[in-house]
Amino acid sequence: MPATYNRVMTDIRVRIAPSPTGPLHIGTARTALFNFLFARHVGGTFVLRLEDTDRARSSIAYEKEIVDGLHWLGLRWDEGPDIAGGPDRGAYGPYRQMQRLGLYKGAARRLLEADLAYPCYCTPAELDAERRRQETAHLQPRYSGRCAHLTPAERAAFEAEGRRPAIRFRIEAGPVAFDDLIRGRVEIDAANLGGDLVIVRADGTPLYHFTVVVDDAAMRISHVIRGEDHLSNTPKHILLFRALGQPVPLFAHLPLILNPDRTKMSKRKSQTAIGDYIAQGFIREGLDNYLALLGWSSGSEEEVLSLDELVERFDLAAVNRAGAIFDRERLEWLNGQWIRRLAPDELVERLGPFLEAERIAGRIDRVPSDVELRVLMPIVQERLPLLGAIGDLVGFLFVDELRYEPALLVPKRWDRATALAGLAAARAVIADVGRVSYEADELEPPLRRLAGERGWKAGDLFMAIRVALTGRTATPPLFDTMVALGHGRTLARLDRAVALLGDAA
Ligand code: GLU
Repeated sequence: MPATYNRVMTDIRVRIAPSPTGPLHIGTARTALFNFLFARHVGGTFVLRLEDTDRARSSIAYEKEIVDGLHWLGLRWDEGPDIAGGPDRGAYGPYRQMQRLGLYKGAARRLLEADLAYPCYCTPAELDAERRRQETAHLQPRYSGRCAHLTPAERAAFEAEGRRPAIRFRIEAGPVAFDDLIRGRVEIDAANLGGDLVIVRADGTPLYHFTVVVDDAAMRISHVIRGEDHLSNTPKHILLFRALGQPVPLFAHLPLILNPDRTKMSKRKSQTAIGDYIAQGFIREGLDNYLALLGWSSGSEEEVLSLDELVERFDLAAVNRAGAIFDRERLEWLNGQWIRRLAPDELVERLGPFLEAERIAGRIDRVPSDVELRVLMPIVQERLPLLGAIGDLVGFLFVDELRYEPALLVPKRWDRATALAGLAAARAVIADVGRVSYEADELEPPLRRLAGERGWKAGDLFMAIRVALTGRTATPPLFDTMVALGHGRTLARLDRAVALLGDAA
Protein backbone atom coordinates (compact mmCIF):
# COMPACT_ATOMS: atom_id res chain seq x y z
CA MET A 1 0.00 0.00 0.00
CA PRO A 2 1.53 3.40 -0.91
CA ALA A 3 2.82 5.35 2.04
CA THR A 4 0.29 8.14 1.57
CA TYR A 5 -2.46 5.71 2.50
CA ASN A 6 -1.09 5.26 5.97
CA ARG A 7 -2.27 8.05 8.13
CA VAL A 8 0.06 9.36 10.76
CA MET A 9 -2.27 9.47 13.73
CA THR A 10 -1.44 12.75 15.25
CA ASP A 11 -5.03 13.77 15.79
CA ILE A 12 -7.87 11.44 16.52
CA ARG A 13 -11.01 12.75 14.92
CA VAL A 14 -14.31 10.89 14.71
CA ARG A 15 -17.76 11.86 13.55
CA ILE A 16 -21.41 11.01 13.67
CA ALA A 17 -23.02 11.73 10.32
CA PRO A 18 -26.79 11.40 10.55
CA SER A 19 -29.12 12.13 7.68
CA PRO A 20 -32.04 14.33 8.81
CA THR A 21 -34.53 12.10 7.02
CA GLY A 22 -36.19 10.61 10.09
CA PRO A 23 -36.28 10.84 13.88
CA LEU A 24 -33.13 10.08 15.90
CA HIS A 25 -32.85 6.30 15.60
CA ILE A 26 -31.62 4.17 18.46
CA GLY A 27 -28.83 2.80 16.22
CA THR A 28 -27.65 6.31 15.38
CA ALA A 29 -27.73 7.24 19.06
CA ARG A 30 -25.65 4.16 19.92
CA THR A 31 -23.16 4.98 17.12
CA ALA A 32 -22.96 8.59 18.31
CA LEU A 33 -22.37 7.40 21.87
CA PHE A 34 -19.56 5.02 20.85
CA ASN A 35 -17.88 7.76 18.81
CA PHE A 36 -18.24 10.13 21.75
CA LEU A 37 -16.88 7.63 24.28
CA PHE A 38 -13.95 6.78 22.04
CA ALA A 39 -13.11 10.44 21.34
CA ARG A 40 -13.31 11.39 25.01
CA HIS A 41 -11.33 8.35 26.12
CA VAL A 42 -8.40 9.12 23.82
CA GLY A 43 -8.65 12.91 23.99
CA GLY A 44 -9.79 13.19 20.37
CA THR A 45 -12.31 15.36 18.59
CA PHE A 46 -15.97 14.44 18.05
CA VAL A 47 -17.67 15.97 15.02
CA LEU A 48 -21.35 16.19 14.06
CA ARG A 49 -21.95 16.35 10.32
CA LEU A 50 -25.42 16.46 8.84
CA GLU A 51 -25.77 14.47 5.64
CA ASP A 52 -28.69 16.35 4.17
CA THR A 53 -28.22 15.86 0.43
CA ASP A 54 -31.43 13.85 0.10
CA ARG A 55 -33.45 17.00 -0.29
CA ALA A 56 -36.78 15.30 -0.75
CA ARG A 57 -36.58 13.41 2.55
CA SER A 58 -34.53 15.79 4.70
CA SER A 59 -36.32 18.30 6.91
CA ILE A 60 -35.48 20.87 9.51
CA ALA A 61 -37.91 19.14 11.88
CA TYR A 62 -35.86 15.94 11.72
CA GLU A 63 -32.65 17.92 12.01
CA LYS A 64 -34.04 19.41 15.21
CA GLU A 65 -35.11 16.05 16.55
CA ILE A 66 -31.65 14.62 15.93
CA VAL A 67 -29.64 17.55 17.27
CA ASP A 68 -31.91 17.93 20.32
CA GLY A 69 -31.83 14.19 20.93
CA LEU A 70 -28.04 14.06 20.88
CA HIS A 71 -27.92 17.02 23.28
CA TRP A 72 -30.46 15.30 25.51
CA LEU A 73 -28.21 12.24 25.66
CA GLY A 74 -25.42 14.54 26.85
CA LEU A 75 -23.12 13.74 23.91
CA ARG A 76 -21.35 17.05 23.42
CA TRP A 77 -19.59 17.45 20.09
CA ASP A 78 -16.60 19.65 19.45
CA GLU A 79 -17.45 20.66 15.91
CA GLY A 80 -20.69 20.95 14.00
CA PRO A 81 -24.07 22.69 14.28
CA ASP A 82 -25.30 23.16 17.84
CA ILE A 83 -28.91 23.87 17.04
CA ALA A 84 -31.12 22.86 14.17
CA GLY A 85 -30.87 25.43 11.41
CA GLY A 86 -28.24 27.31 13.42
CA PRO A 87 -24.61 28.16 12.67
CA ASP A 88 -21.86 25.69 13.32
CA ARG A 89 -18.54 25.64 15.16
CA GLY A 90 -15.23 24.23 14.02
CA ALA A 91 -12.38 24.68 11.58
CA TYR A 92 -13.61 22.19 8.99
CA GLY A 93 -17.06 23.59 8.31
CA PRO A 94 -19.58 23.95 6.99
CA TYR A 95 -20.93 20.78 8.61
CA ARG A 96 -24.05 20.36 6.49
CA GLN A 97 -23.45 18.65 3.18
CA MET A 98 -25.82 20.92 1.27
CA GLN A 99 -23.41 23.72 2.09
CA ARG A 100 -20.44 21.75 0.75
CA LEU A 101 -21.61 21.12 -2.81
CA GLY A 102 -18.68 23.06 -4.29
CA LEU A 103 -16.29 20.67 -2.63
CA TYR A 104 -17.92 17.60 -4.17
CA LYS A 105 -17.96 19.29 -7.55
CA GLY A 106 -14.23 19.98 -7.33
CA ALA A 107 -13.46 16.44 -6.24
CA ALA A 108 -15.56 15.00 -9.08
CA ARG A 109 -13.76 17.23 -11.55
CA ARG A 110 -10.39 15.98 -10.31
CA LEU A 111 -11.47 12.36 -10.71
CA LEU A 112 -12.74 13.08 -14.26
CA GLU A 113 -9.50 14.82 -15.19
CA ALA A 114 -7.45 11.87 -13.93
CA ASP A 115 -9.80 9.50 -15.82
CA LEU A 116 -10.59 7.78 -12.52
CA ALA A 117 -14.22 8.65 -13.25
CA TYR A 118 -16.11 9.20 -16.48
CA PRO A 119 -19.39 10.64 -17.73
CA CYS A 120 -22.08 8.01 -18.14
CA TYR A 121 -24.93 8.71 -20.53
CA CYS A 122 -27.03 5.64 -19.86
CA THR A 123 -30.64 6.56 -19.21
CA PRO A 124 -32.61 5.09 -16.29
CA ALA A 125 -34.61 3.05 -18.83
CA GLU A 126 -31.46 1.58 -20.33
CA LEU A 127 -30.05 0.74 -16.92
CA ASP A 128 -33.34 -0.86 -15.92
CA ALA A 129 -33.37 -3.02 -19.03
CA GLU A 130 -29.79 -4.07 -18.29
CA ARG A 131 -30.68 -5.00 -14.72
CA ARG A 132 -33.68 -7.05 -15.88
CA ARG A 133 -31.57 -8.97 -18.40
CA GLN A 134 -29.09 -9.80 -15.64
CA GLU A 135 -31.87 -10.90 -13.30
CA THR A 136 -33.34 -13.20 -15.92
CA ALA A 137 -29.91 -14.73 -16.48
CA HIS A 138 -29.52 -15.10 -12.68
CA LEU A 139 -26.51 -12.82 -12.70
CA GLN A 140 -25.60 -10.35 -9.95
CA PRO A 141 -26.72 -6.90 -11.06
CA ARG A 142 -23.75 -4.78 -12.09
CA TYR A 143 -23.11 -1.90 -14.42
CA SER A 144 -21.87 -3.21 -17.75
CA GLY A 145 -19.39 -0.43 -18.30
CA ARG A 146 -21.05 0.65 -21.53
CA CYS A 147 -19.88 4.25 -21.15
CA ALA A 148 -16.50 3.44 -19.60
CA HIS A 149 -14.51 3.88 -22.77
CA LEU A 150 -16.47 6.24 -24.99
CA THR A 151 -14.47 8.26 -27.47
CA PRO A 152 -14.78 12.07 -27.39
CA ALA A 153 -16.90 11.83 -30.53
CA GLU A 154 -19.30 9.34 -28.93
CA ARG A 155 -19.65 11.58 -25.88
CA ALA A 156 -20.31 14.58 -28.09
CA ALA A 157 -23.00 12.63 -29.91
CA PHE A 158 -24.79 11.82 -26.64
CA GLU A 159 -24.49 15.46 -25.57
CA ALA A 160 -25.95 16.52 -28.89
CA GLU A 161 -28.94 14.25 -28.16
CA GLY A 162 -29.46 16.35 -25.05
CA ARG A 163 -28.41 13.61 -22.60
CA ARG A 164 -26.98 14.84 -19.31
CA PRO A 165 -24.29 12.52 -17.94
CA ALA A 166 -24.02 11.06 -14.49
CA ILE A 167 -20.45 10.61 -13.22
CA ARG A 168 -19.21 7.10 -12.59
CA PHE A 169 -16.18 6.13 -10.58
CA ARG A 170 -14.09 3.32 -12.08
CA ILE A 171 -13.92 0.23 -9.91
CA GLU A 172 -11.23 -2.20 -10.99
CA ALA A 173 -11.55 -5.86 -10.01
CA GLY A 174 -9.15 -7.00 -7.31
CA PRO A 175 -9.11 -7.49 -3.56
CA VAL A 176 -9.76 -4.58 -1.22
CA ALA A 177 -8.72 -5.34 2.32
CA PHE A 178 -8.73 -3.47 5.59
CA ASP A 179 -8.24 -4.23 9.26
CA ASP A 180 -11.46 -3.42 11.00
CA LEU A 181 -10.81 -2.44 14.60
CA ILE A 182 -13.67 -4.67 15.73
CA ARG A 183 -14.02 -7.34 13.08
CA GLY A 184 -10.37 -7.85 12.19
CA ARG A 185 -9.23 -8.45 8.62
CA VAL A 186 -11.96 -7.88 6.05
CA GLU A 187 -11.30 -8.62 2.41
CA ILE A 188 -13.73 -8.10 -0.46
CA ASP A 189 -13.17 -8.53 -4.17
CA ALA A 190 -13.99 -5.27 -5.91
CA ALA A 191 -15.42 -7.39 -8.73
CA ASN A 192 -18.44 -7.89 -6.42
CA LEU A 193 -19.17 -4.22 -5.87
CA GLY A 194 -21.65 -3.89 -8.72
CA GLY A 195 -19.37 -2.32 -11.29
CA ASP A 196 -18.46 1.34 -11.75
CA LEU A 197 -20.22 3.48 -9.19
CA VAL A 198 -22.37 6.54 -9.82
CA ILE A 199 -20.97 9.30 -7.62
CA VAL A 200 -22.88 12.25 -9.10
CA ARG A 201 -26.35 11.96 -10.62
CA ALA A 202 -27.22 13.41 -14.01
CA ASP A 203 -28.97 16.29 -12.23
CA GLY A 204 -25.70 17.15 -10.47
CA THR A 205 -26.51 15.83 -6.97
CA PRO A 206 -23.60 13.97 -5.39
CA LEU A 207 -24.33 10.58 -3.84
CA TYR A 208 -23.68 9.26 -0.35
CA HIS A 209 -20.60 7.11 -1.07
CA PHE A 210 -18.90 10.07 -2.63
CA THR A 211 -19.87 12.85 -0.21
CA VAL A 212 -19.02 10.73 2.83
CA VAL A 213 -15.49 10.12 1.53
CA VAL A 214 -14.88 13.68 0.38
CA ASP A 215 -16.03 14.93 3.78
CA ASP A 216 -14.23 12.36 5.90
CA ALA A 217 -11.06 13.28 4.03
CA ALA A 218 -11.63 17.04 4.23
CA MET A 219 -12.56 16.85 7.90
CA ARG A 220 -9.48 14.74 8.63
CA ILE A 221 -11.53 11.93 10.14
CA SER A 222 -9.09 9.36 11.53
CA HIS A 223 -11.53 6.66 12.65
CA VAL A 224 -14.84 5.86 10.98
CA ILE A 225 -16.96 4.19 13.65
CA ARG A 226 -20.37 3.22 12.27
CA GLY A 227 -22.92 0.42 12.08
CA GLU A 228 -22.18 -2.91 10.51
CA ASP A 229 -24.83 -2.19 7.88
CA HIS A 230 -22.13 -0.01 6.26
CA LEU A 231 -19.53 -2.79 6.14
CA SER A 232 -20.22 -3.57 2.49
CA ASN A 233 -19.84 0.14 1.61
CA THR A 234 -16.38 0.41 3.07
CA PRO A 235 -14.43 -1.13 0.12
CA LYS A 236 -16.05 1.45 -2.19
CA HIS A 237 -15.05 4.17 0.23
CA ILE A 238 -11.47 2.90 0.47
CA LEU A 239 -11.15 2.94 -3.33
CA LEU A 240 -12.49 6.49 -3.38
CA PHE A 241 -10.08 7.67 -0.67
CA ARG A 242 -7.21 6.25 -2.68
CA ALA A 243 -8.42 7.75 -5.95
CA LEU A 244 -8.65 11.14 -4.28
CA GLY A 245 -5.10 10.72 -2.99
CA GLN A 246 -6.29 10.86 0.59
CA PRO A 247 -5.23 8.81 3.60
CA VAL A 248 -7.63 5.99 4.37
CA PRO A 249 -9.07 6.27 7.88
CA LEU A 250 -9.33 3.32 10.21
CA PHE A 251 -12.71 1.60 10.35
CA ALA A 252 -14.69 0.09 13.18
CA HIS A 253 -18.05 -1.47 12.36
CA LEU A 254 -20.39 -1.80 15.33
CA PRO A 255 -22.62 -4.87 15.65
CA LEU A 256 -26.23 -4.49 14.60
CA ILE A 257 -28.92 -4.01 17.20
CA LEU A 258 -31.31 -6.96 17.02
CA ASN A 259 -34.81 -7.72 18.23
CA PRO A 260 -35.08 -10.58 20.73
CA ASP A 261 -35.91 -12.88 17.79
CA ARG A 262 -32.56 -11.86 16.25
CA THR A 263 -34.15 -9.98 13.37
CA LYS A 264 -32.80 -6.53 12.62
CA MET A 265 -34.43 -3.75 14.62
CA SER A 266 -36.57 -1.82 12.20
CA LYS A 267 -38.95 1.08 12.37
CA ARG A 268 -41.84 -1.15 11.47
CA LYS A 269 -41.28 -3.88 14.03
CA SER A 270 -39.64 -2.16 16.95
CA GLN A 271 -39.56 1.05 18.90
CA THR A 272 -36.55 2.74 17.32
CA ALA A 273 -37.02 6.49 17.81
CA ILE A 274 -35.14 7.90 20.80
CA GLY A 275 -37.95 10.44 21.17
CA ASP A 276 -40.35 7.63 22.07
CA TYR A 277 -38.04 6.42 24.83
CA ILE A 278 -37.76 9.95 26.18
CA ALA A 279 -41.54 10.33 26.09
CA GLN A 280 -41.97 7.15 28.13
CA GLY A 281 -39.69 8.47 30.81
CA PHE A 282 -36.35 6.87 30.24
CA ILE A 283 -33.71 9.19 31.65
CA ARG A 284 -30.48 10.06 29.90
CA GLU A 285 -28.32 8.34 32.50
CA GLY A 286 -30.20 5.06 32.02
CA LEU A 287 -30.37 5.27 28.25
CA ASP A 288 -26.68 6.17 27.84
CA ASN A 289 -25.72 3.36 30.17
CA TYR A 290 -27.87 0.86 28.32
CA LEU A 291 -26.81 1.96 24.83
CA ALA A 292 -23.15 1.65 25.84
CA LEU A 293 -23.77 -1.97 26.79
CA LEU A 294 -25.34 -2.71 23.39
CA GLY A 295 -22.32 -4.41 21.90
CA TRP A 296 -19.74 -3.48 24.50
CA SER A 297 -19.06 -4.55 28.06
CA SER A 298 -16.73 -3.11 30.64
CA GLY A 299 -15.13 -6.51 31.11
CA SER A 300 -16.20 -6.52 34.76
CA GLU A 301 -19.39 -7.17 36.67
CA GLU A 302 -20.11 -3.47 36.82
CA GLU A 303 -23.20 -2.58 34.89
CA VAL A 304 -24.36 0.71 36.30
CA LEU A 305 -21.92 3.20 34.83
CA SER A 306 -22.16 6.95 34.41
CA LEU A 307 -21.12 8.68 31.22
CA ASP A 308 -17.82 9.67 32.88
CA GLU A 309 -17.21 6.10 34.00
CA LEU A 310 -18.05 4.85 30.51
CA VAL A 311 -15.57 7.31 29.00
CA GLU A 312 -12.92 6.07 31.39
CA ARG A 313 -13.49 2.39 30.60
CA PHE A 314 -14.46 2.44 26.94
CA ASP A 315 -12.31 0.42 24.58
CA LEU A 316 -13.16 -0.10 20.90
CA ALA A 317 -11.23 -3.36 20.89
CA ALA A 318 -13.67 -4.75 23.46
CA VAL A 319 -16.72 -4.21 21.25
CA ASN A 320 -18.36 -7.50 20.25
CA ARG A 321 -18.74 -8.71 16.73
CA ALA A 322 -21.98 -10.53 17.36
CA GLY A 323 -25.28 -8.67 17.01
CA ALA A 324 -26.46 -6.93 20.18
CA ILE A 325 -29.89 -8.08 21.30
CA PHE A 326 -32.13 -5.31 22.55
CA ASP A 327 -33.48 -6.23 25.96
CA ARG A 328 -36.23 -3.91 27.08
CA GLU A 329 -36.35 -5.40 30.59
CA ARG A 330 -32.68 -4.75 31.16
CA LEU A 331 -33.10 -1.20 29.88
CA GLU A 332 -35.95 -0.60 32.34
CA TRP A 333 -33.93 -2.14 35.14
CA LEU A 334 -30.94 0.10 34.43
CA ASN A 335 -33.22 3.09 34.10
CA GLY A 336 -34.71 2.30 37.51
CA GLN A 337 -31.22 2.04 38.95
CA TRP A 338 -30.46 5.53 37.65
CA ILE A 339 -33.76 6.95 38.88
CA ARG A 340 -32.80 5.74 42.37
CA ARG A 341 -29.48 7.52 42.10
CA LEU A 342 -31.02 10.90 41.30
CA ALA A 343 -31.18 13.48 44.08
CA PRO A 344 -34.85 13.52 45.22
CA ASP A 345 -35.24 17.18 44.27
CA GLU A 346 -33.89 16.42 40.81
CA LEU A 347 -36.35 13.55 40.44
CA VAL A 348 -39.22 15.83 41.48
CA GLU A 349 -38.20 18.25 38.77
CA ARG A 350 -37.93 15.58 36.08
CA LEU A 351 -41.33 14.17 37.01
CA GLY A 352 -43.05 17.53 36.45
CA PRO A 353 -43.76 17.12 32.72
CA PHE A 354 -44.96 13.54 33.22
CA LEU A 355 -47.49 14.56 35.85
CA GLU A 356 -48.64 17.40 33.64
CA ALA A 357 -49.15 14.83 30.86
CA GLU A 358 -51.22 12.70 33.26
CA ARG A 359 -53.42 15.71 33.98
CA ILE A 360 -53.85 16.58 30.31
CA ALA A 361 -54.80 12.97 29.60
CA GLY A 362 -57.43 13.25 32.36
CA ARG A 363 -55.88 10.55 34.52
CA ILE A 364 -55.35 12.92 37.45
CA ASP A 365 -57.34 16.00 38.45
CA ARG A 366 -54.45 18.15 39.61
CA VAL A 367 -50.67 18.22 39.46
CA PRO A 368 -49.14 18.07 42.93
CA SER A 369 -46.81 20.83 44.09
CA ASP A 370 -43.10 20.11 44.30
CA VAL A 371 -43.41 20.03 48.08
CA GLU A 372 -46.18 17.41 47.99
CA LEU A 373 -44.22 15.37 45.50
CA ARG A 374 -41.01 15.65 47.49
CA VAL A 375 -42.72 14.03 50.50
CA LEU A 376 -43.59 11.04 48.33
CA MET A 377 -40.06 10.43 47.10
CA PRO A 378 -39.23 7.82 49.75
CA ILE A 379 -42.04 5.57 48.50
CA VAL A 380 -41.68 6.47 44.82
CA GLN A 381 -37.99 6.56 44.02
CA GLU A 382 -37.31 2.85 44.54
CA ARG A 383 -40.30 1.81 42.49
CA LEU A 384 -40.13 3.76 39.26
CA PRO A 385 -38.71 1.97 36.23
CA LEU A 386 -39.71 4.96 34.07
CA LEU A 387 -40.72 8.53 34.85
CA GLY A 388 -43.86 7.83 32.85
CA ALA A 389 -44.93 5.24 35.43
CA ILE A 390 -45.49 7.96 38.04
CA GLY A 391 -49.23 8.13 37.32
CA ASP A 392 -49.66 4.40 37.85
CA LEU A 393 -47.75 4.62 41.09
CA VAL A 394 -49.26 7.63 42.86
CA GLY A 395 -51.87 9.08 40.51
CA PHE A 396 -54.64 7.95 42.90
CA LEU A 397 -53.51 10.64 45.32
CA PHE A 398 -54.39 13.38 42.88
CA VAL A 399 -57.83 12.37 41.70
CA ASP A 400 -60.99 13.65 43.32
CA GLU A 401 -62.95 10.48 42.80
CA LEU A 402 -61.49 7.06 42.05
CA ARG A 403 -63.04 5.05 39.26
CA TYR A 404 -62.87 1.29 39.56
CA GLU A 405 -65.10 -1.74 39.25
CA PRO A 406 -66.70 -2.53 42.65
CA ALA A 407 -65.93 -6.21 41.98
CA LEU A 408 -62.24 -5.34 42.39
CA LEU A 409 -62.95 -4.71 46.08
CA VAL A 410 -63.63 -8.40 46.62
CA PRO A 411 -60.40 -10.43 46.90
CA LYS A 412 -60.41 -13.84 45.26
CA ARG A 413 -60.96 -15.86 48.44
CA TRP A 414 -63.69 -13.54 49.71
CA ASP A 415 -67.28 -12.89 48.84
CA ARG A 416 -69.01 -9.55 48.72
CA ALA A 417 -70.40 -9.77 52.25
CA THR A 418 -66.96 -10.51 53.68
CA ALA A 419 -65.47 -7.58 51.76
CA LEU A 420 -68.20 -5.33 53.07
CA ALA A 421 -67.61 -6.48 56.64
CA GLY A 422 -63.83 -6.27 56.24
CA LEU A 423 -63.85 -2.74 54.90
CA ALA A 424 -66.32 -1.51 57.51
CA ALA A 425 -64.28 -3.03 60.33
CA ALA A 426 -61.04 -1.67 58.90
CA ARG A 427 -62.62 1.75 58.69
CA ALA A 428 -63.43 1.64 62.39
CA VAL A 429 -59.88 0.56 63.28
CA ILE A 430 -58.31 3.25 61.10
CA ALA A 431 -60.62 5.92 62.44
CA ASP A 432 -59.49 4.96 65.91
CA VAL A 433 -55.76 5.00 65.12
CA GLY A 434 -56.10 8.34 63.43
CA ARG A 435 -57.43 9.92 66.53
CA VAL A 436 -54.10 9.28 68.31
CA SER A 437 -51.49 9.20 65.58
CA TYR A 438 -51.65 8.46 61.87
CA GLU A 439 -48.42 6.71 60.90
CA ALA A 440 -47.57 3.60 58.96
CA ASP A 441 -46.13 1.86 62.06
CA GLU A 442 -49.27 2.54 64.04
CA LEU A 443 -51.65 1.31 61.35
CA GLU A 444 -50.29 -2.10 60.58
CA PRO A 445 -50.53 -3.92 63.98
CA PRO A 446 -54.20 -3.20 64.72
CA LEU A 447 -55.23 -4.12 61.15
CA ARG A 448 -53.33 -7.40 61.39
CA ARG A 449 -54.98 -8.02 64.74
CA LEU A 450 -58.38 -7.39 63.18
CA ALA A 451 -57.69 -9.94 60.44
CA GLY A 452 -56.53 -12.47 63.06
CA GLU A 453 -59.62 -12.02 65.20
CA ARG A 454 -61.97 -12.52 62.27
CA GLY A 455 -60.03 -15.43 60.77
CA TRP A 456 -59.20 -13.49 57.57
CA LYS A 457 -55.91 -13.67 55.77
CA ALA A 458 -54.23 -10.29 56.34
CA GLY A 459 -53.32 -10.20 52.61
CA ASP A 460 -57.00 -10.36 51.65
CA LEU A 461 -58.01 -7.61 54.02
CA PHE A 462 -55.13 -5.44 52.86
CA MET A 463 -56.03 -6.02 49.22
CA ALA A 464 -59.61 -4.88 49.78
CA ILE A 465 -58.34 -1.76 51.55
CA ARG A 466 -55.76 -1.12 48.82
CA VAL A 467 -58.40 -1.17 46.10
CA ALA A 468 -60.69 1.06 48.14
CA LEU A 469 -57.93 3.63 48.60
CA THR A 470 -56.22 3.50 45.21
CA GLY A 471 -58.51 1.77 42.73
CA ARG A 472 -55.63 -0.60 41.96
CA THR A 473 -54.30 -3.92 43.08
CA ALA A 474 -50.60 -3.00 42.87
CA THR A 475 -49.38 0.12 44.63
CA PRO A 476 -46.61 1.35 46.90
CA PRO A 477 -46.72 -0.19 50.40
CA LEU A 478 -50.22 0.05 51.79
CA PHE A 479 -49.52 1.82 55.06
CA ASP A 480 -47.33 4.45 53.43
CA THR A 481 -50.10 4.90 50.91
CA MET A 482 -52.62 5.54 53.69
CA VAL A 483 -50.36 8.13 55.26
CA ALA A 484 -49.79 9.85 51.93
CA LEU A 485 -53.54 9.95 51.38
CA GLY A 486 -54.20 11.40 54.84
CA HIS A 487 -56.62 10.34 57.51
CA GLY A 488 -59.69 12.16 56.21
CA ARG A 489 -59.40 10.98 52.62
CA THR A 490 -58.61 7.42 53.72
CA LEU A 491 -61.84 7.26 55.69
CA ALA A 492 -63.82 8.92 52.92
CA ARG A 493 -62.57 6.40 50.33
CA LEU A 494 -63.36 3.50 52.66
CA ASP A 495 -66.86 4.90 53.17
CA ARG A 496 -67.34 5.13 49.44
CA ALA A 497 -66.14 1.55 48.94
CA VAL A 498 -68.54 0.31 51.61
CA ALA A 499 -71.34 2.22 49.91
CA LEU A 500 -70.40 0.82 46.49
CA LEU A 501 -70.47 -2.73 47.80
CA GLY A 502 -73.73 -2.05 49.64
CA ASP A 503 -75.29 -0.73 46.41
CA ALA A 504 -74.05 -3.74 44.49
CA ALA A 505 -75.98 -6.03 46.86
N1 GLU B 1 -25.47 9.41 6.69
C1 GLU B 1 -25.04 8.06 6.87
C2 GLU B 1 -26.07 7.33 7.75
O1 GLU B 1 -26.87 8.01 8.40
C3 GLU B 1 -23.68 8.05 7.53
C4 GLU B 1 -22.99 6.76 7.40
C5 GLU B 1 -21.56 6.83 7.85
O2 GLU B 1 -21.34 6.98 9.06
O3 GLU B 1 -20.68 6.77 7.00
O4 GLU B 1 -26.13 6.14 7.77
